[in-house]
Amino acid sequence: MSENNVFARIIRGELPANKVYEDDEFLAFHDIDPAAPVHLLLIPKRHVVSLQDVGPEDAAWLGRMMALIPKLALENGCRPGPEGGFRVVANSGDDGGQEVPHLHFHILGGERPWKPK
Ligand code: 5GP
Repeated sequence: MSENNVFARIIRGELPANKVYEDDEFLAFHDIDPAAPVHLLLIPKRHVVSLQDVGPEDAAWLGRMMALIPKLALENGCRPGPEGGFRVVANSGDDGGQEVPHLHFHILGGERPWKPK
């Protein structure tokens, strides 16, 4: 059965998103309710609910996903260098505060002050 959450629907093109990056494996877009001046979501196109569902066999694609983060952050308004930077969050499961059951990394940054969710 196919996933029916909002991110699966964005991947399938059934819902619009303000996309900043797409390739065969991953999609990144602006969070609809930003918690910082820059708030992106990076998701894999494959069906993975959360970090609770990955293991050593996922290291290669997870590595490629992680390696996209600094590029996306800097291309979309996060400031470079030690005074700049960004925060990466992956809420996982109910106790982790996850609302959308499809793996995603929040990429948060931009000039402070801002308070992460
Ligand atoms: P979670 O709590 O699952 O880690 O975060 C889900 C995030 O998805 C929230 O920050 C929320 O604002 C964002 N979000 C929920 N629905 C949509 C949507 O339809 N479009 C976009 N771009 N973001 C969404």
